[in-house]
Amino acid sequence: MHTQRTKYVFVTGGVVSSIGKGLAAASLGALMEARGLRVTHIKLDPYINVDPGTMSPYQHGEVYVTDDGAEADLDLGHYERFTSARMTRANNFTTGRIYDAVISKERRGEYLGATVQVIPHITDEIKARVREVAAGVDVAIVEIGGTVGDIESLPFLEAVRQLRTENGPQNTVSVHVTLVPWIGAAGELKTKPTQHSVKELLGLGIQPEILICRVDRELPVDLKRKIAHFTNVGVEAVIAATDVSCIYELPIKLHKEGLDQQLVERLNIWSRQPDLSNWKRTVERMREPQKGTVSVALIGKYVHLRDAYKSLHESLVHGGLANDLSVQLHYVDSEELQRVDDMEKVLGEYDAILVPGGFGDRGLEGKIKAIRYAREHNVPFFGICLGMQMAVVEFARHVCGLDGAGTVEADPQTKHPLIHLMPGQRGIQDKGATMRLGAYPCQLAEGSLAARVYGTTLISERHRHRFEVNNEYRETLEKNGLRLSGLSPDQLLVEMVELPNHRYFIGCQFHPEFKSKPHAPHPLFTHFIHAAQEYSRVRPRKEGSTHASLN
Ligand code: GLN
Repeated sequence: MHTQRTKYVFVTGGVVSSIGKGLAAASLGALMEARGLRVTHIKLDPYINVDPGTMSPYQHGEVYVTDDGAEADLDLGHYERFTSARMTRANNFTTGRIYDAVISKERRGEYLGATVQVIPHITDEIKARVREVAAGVDVAIVEIGGTVGDIESLPFLEAVRQLRTENGPQNTVSVHVTLVPWIGAAGELKTKPTQHSVKELLGLGIQPEILICRVDRELPVDLKRKIAHFTNVGVEAVIAATDVSCIYELPIKLHKEGLDQQLVERLNIWSRQPDLSNWKRTVERMREPQKGTVSVALIGKYVHLRDAYKSLHESLVHGGLANDLSVQLHYVDSEELQRVDDMEKVLGEYDAILVPGGFGDRGLEGKIKAIRYAREHNVPFFGICLGMQMAVVEFARHVCGLDGAGTVEADPQTKHPLIHLMPGQRGIQDKGATMRLGAYPCQLAEGSLAARVYGTTLISERHRHRFEVNNEYRETLEKNGLRLSGLSPDQLLVEMVELPNHRYFIGCQFHPEFKSKPHAPHPLFTHFIHAAQEYSRVRPRKEGSTHASLN
């Protein structure tokens, strides 16, 4: 059976959240893959929501979308960017989904009259799902969300404890990611939080074999020894994860600390030394981009919340990598833009403007103003999902002369509903997992900018939306010069728009940011950044311009 062969790595977190557990897990996957092993990743989230699709970005950051249409935790984005594993809806599940499944089974009478309990019914459901995803790979990396000690993660940790016992010590390893804080007043790094966190984990029957210690400076060997001493972990398995200037340096750094060596030894896997050459190349290019810097304005409503645009941010970095450029991303608050009179003053300093996806009506008019500025001033523009929808509204209002054009999402009574509910969305009441989700094919027009960018005319991209361009306005839009360069194969949905007389102006209904990788940047980002660079050469500059590019 496959489960006999698959090795498991369980990644838990201690002390505080947001110490980079997801990136550590992703790097671990990258290192195992660099050793020629087949990997997959699983993320277990202890909250009650069935999935993060209905959660606010303030609570949860970005909602990542998989090909098969799961609305998933953003760590799945890290996993897909760092490895070649393809994530599906089975690779991420929450307490809510587990209980939902168990309660449905109970209602169907599948437990044959038993009292349904956390142990064994909930834990069995967790274990069965983990095993199913892990089947067929060499190493399954299972990350448990939250922090050890949270009440809600207990069933997951109990399932981990059982999986370890059932699979045997040579087939599983427990990696605990903790924080070793620097206490300024004492001038010392403190190991006590790590000791406590491991004690907590031990109390749940899990002895970690490897510790990854997040630390903001060098972790001296005597402190490693001290940690090892208090936690029953070998000193060689106390791995320091010092801050990195770019996340793609993490696999290299953890390799230097011996992480992958520790893993394969403990899991008794024979494998070659890892080939990290592509990671090294990426990091070198990022450190010293040969062609200078471009500045991109991102017009959004979550400007204080970088996690809300995680994949987008990474994709722009990848676009920079492909062009040997560094990308300076500037978040511009779309609500504030609504009050601005002199747009030139706010946006005139950027080499390109991007309007990302979003929901609701807040800040929409600011986005439309920014798009108008980009269109009229011939500034490279990229609109994604809501960004494309607003580009269509802007074009309808100011080029086609359709006063009062809008989206039904913001105003159900809008005079010209350029953007309206997709037919399949009418009558849907439930909010969870009911959008148009996941990968769909799209046909690009021959000779369009989109086809040039992709180098092909049939593409597949991931979606997450309820609204779309209203086909009744298609003719008007086209007559006035907007090219509908991407359509669904049945021609019923507008998936991409562009402006032929513009330097670079593209909108897409889908989210290309979910498919860009550091070693394979997405063409839409590569070309957008290239257009930004071209524009930076000719763009008018004011005295004392702050975002001057180097070339
Ligand atoms: N709110 C818009 C819709 O539902 C756009 C969604 C998005 O940008 N992801 O269609």
